[in-house]
Amino acid sequence: MEAISKTLSLFDFQQQFPNDESCLKYLFDKKWENGYQCHRCKRKKYCHGRKEYDRRCTACGYVESPTANTLFHKVKFSLLKAFYIVYLVSTNKRGIASTELSRKLGLRQKTCWLFKQKVMQSMGSRKKYIISSEVEIMPCELGINHVIENGEKVKKKKLAVLAHEKKGSGRGNTYGHRVNNLSANELGIIFRDHLHKAAPIRTTGWTGFGPLQKEFPAMVALLPNQGKRPLVMSYRIGCGLLHWLRGTHGHAEHLQYYIDEYFFRLNRSDMEGDLFFHVIDRMINHEPRTYRDIVSYKPKALFSENSKILPKSA
Ligand SMILES: [Zn+2]
Repeated sequence: MEAISKTLSLFDFQQQFPNDESCLKYLFDKKWENGYQCHRCKRKKYCHGRKEYDRRCTACGYVESPTANTLFHKVKFSLLKAFYIVYLVSTNKRGIASTELSRKLGLRQKTCWLFKQKVMQSMGSRKKYIISSEVEIMPCELGINHVIENGEKVKKKKLAVLAHEKKGSGRGNTYGHRVNNLSANELGIIFRDHLHKAAPIRTTGWTGFGPLQKEFPAMVALLPNQGKRPLVMSYRIGCGLLHWLRGTHGHAEHLQYYIDEYFFRLNRSDMEGDLFFHVIDRMINHEPRTYRDIVSYKPKALFSENSKILPKSA
């Protein structure tokens, strides 16, 4: 029997979402499926607003549309095209560039770029899952960024650190975090976000990991053995990320968002057809983001001097 792909086909997508109204109705059903609560005063009683899918709080009079206070907030083009962007970003195994979205949907490239960034905002790890089994931590280089520092254009290495969970002979989840340098201060963020204190951790021999040993006592540094590279799986994953960034996105200025997108898809590769609906769900439950919010992204750790780089990912 011929295997049928579980991926939501374009035909199925078009059947379910033929126009703007079907998209708005979907957001309406999902947003309030567990009941209504006023965004402003938190009361639960409502009546219908002037527009068909709006709800109006009976206590304070606040009118809320299905797109309000979500990542679809104030979307300035057809909601159907917005759904198409979510569909194309979530179902393409290798993602899709904003120039390609612009060609496919007849929207300006900047418009597609901004909305795609909003989709990517929903793909960030919620840090709910803590790895307690064997895990590999590896820093990697992901190209060069040109930045202005003290009025001068300087080259900065794009650095990230990966946490790759091992599950027997298989692959568990992988998380990536953009870092400014490879100091213990920066490296420690991914440890504290994703690892259990007692997790058996394998790292490279990079000195920046040293100060974290006290907090994560089961950490072991693996050095190259007879020319063989340690942390092979993490190395491969790092190479995959690097090639994807280069191939699809050229220069990824807001690196963390691209790392989030890559691992969101990789960690859910068995989800297939549900991935589109999963992303829509996350977008409904995510606070709105403006252009300014997106471009002013600041990493959690403070910037300090760049230290030496050890292992290269490619
Ligand atoms: Zn209210």
